Amino acid sequence: MLPQRVPRWPTHSLFRQLRPLQRIPAPTRQLQLQLQLQLRSCSSCEATPASQAATPPPGKPIKNAPPPPPPKSPSPETKPPPDHRALGLHQKLFTTSPYSPGSAFFLPAGTRIFNRLVTFLRNQYVRYGFEEVITPLIYKKNLWAKSGHLENYAQDMYTVTGARHAASEDLESDSDREYGLKPMNCPGHCLIFASQKRSFRDLPIRYADFSPLHRNENTGSLTGLTRVRRFHQDDGHIFCRPIQIEEEIRKSLEFVKHTYSTLGLGPYRLALSTRPDQYMGSLEDWEQAENALKRALDASGTNWTVNEGDGAFYGPKIDIVLRDSHGKEHQTATIQLDFQLPKRFELEYIAPAPEMEQRGEITTDPELLATFGPVRPVMIHRAVLGSVERLMALLIEHYDGKYPLWLNPNQIKIITVNDTEPVVEWANHVRERLLGIAEGDITPTHFAVDLDTSARPMSVKKAEALSAGASVVVTIGASEVEGMNVSVDLSAVAGSRKRQTMRAEELREWVGERVAAHK
Ligand SMILES: [Zn+2]
Repeated sequence: MLPQRVPRWPTHSLFRQLRPLQRIPAPTRQLQLQLQLQLRSCSSCEATPASQAATPPPGKPIKNAPPPPPPKSPSPETKPPPDHRALGLHQKLFTTSPYSPGSAFFLPAGTRIFNRLVTFLRNQYVRYGFEEVITPLIYKKNLWAKSGHLENYAQDMYTVTGARHAASEDLESDSDREYGLKPMNCPGHCLIFASQKRSFRDLPIRYADFSPLHRNENTGSLTGLTRVRRFHQDDGHIFCRPIQIEEEIRKSLEFVKHTYSTLGLGPYRLALSTRPDQYMGSLEDWEQAENALKRALDASGTNWTVNEGDGAFYGPKIDIVLRDSHGKEHQTATIQLDFQLPKRFELEYIAPAPEMEQRGEITTDPELLATFGPVRPVMIHRAVLGSVERLMALLIEHYDGKYPLWLNPNQIKIITVNDTEPVVEWANHVRERLLGIAEGDITPTHFAVDLDTSARPMSVKKAEALSAGASVVVTIGASEVEGMNVSVDLSAVAGSRKRQTMRAEELREWVGERVAAHK
């Protein structure tokens, strides 16, 4: 007898009650489906685009299959394209567990790559005027009702119910019992905006958030880092005056360009999606916004195309579609205007000549300027990397596991010629110096430095270091102990001399400069 199936949702769940589409009287079922799709494509939200078809896991044996043919030596034509799942396993970047399907466990090496990407973005936030915020992961379901997710996105969300609260008779409503695990950050950022009185002088306000997000993807579609249930975004929301739209879009496109060129990814194309048949806001709003986006796209110097009528019902958007080294396209970044959420959350700021301000017009009329009133801000959702997990998968495959020095989770490998005490002692000192933790050092460098003092042959140790993807191989023997220096092989780093002797401090400085320059 099969065990009784446990329902996924508590019976009192409003999320569950709303799931069947026919129970929702308005809008129509067709529009409802459309809204679902559109909500899915909100900037922060595009984690698993259709362009990324799930592929079966590599190397899985098939029962009763005929024996495989003898292995052939791979030629450039027959070599399969790099697979981030196989590389992730080989380089110990991440693992998964049936105890939490679709949520990657980043191992120390994978965490190094993840953190370097995040640090890179944090540095750009200073340049592009974003301020990072830290927001809750769970919100009461009335928040999700306000944002529209409950109507349109409930089946992709997880509910969270505290056992004590679920059993309590004292609570007045379901809303106090049940929470939703956030699939995106937008509503939380609206709450922050609404938490203070805002003046036109405060805008634009740009919030950034690296919170983990959860979406209930089908178990069968989960794949590596590309189809996941838990992911992080370099999520950002800009609250601006209507007149500031063009400038904000221009800056966002510049941010995208700078980031993708630093990461060595591309080329990419830009696609503007315009007003669909079902839309909210006035025709005038849309025309004004689309024209601002077109001017910003023209100014970007990148080729762009129009997807007529393909915008979300709440605003036009620009998708950044990246072409990988195998010609496959991936939608990564999105910049999306939103007229809807500011309305749902009743966001406003105070400005002079409010009616003209709302239309994005400027006046010098002193009489109009003397009248102050509330104006609805425009919200821009934007993510430059998109899902950090998915971008990591692209990077791992793009570099085929041979990363540039700054991103490399195996930056420096120190190997000793033998395991005699003076050699091992000097090797340890060099390691500490490179890490910035030796006596007299003030700040750790955060370089990835590994040490191999085993008594194995040098050639084996070196081949192993290079196969693991080390950018810099440092050799230490008796002559380095005597000279108080290190022998360095930089052949794995582009444009560098093959082998040289230098002081540990010189090597540290050299690596530091390249890391700072994202090389
Ligand atoms: Zn958003």
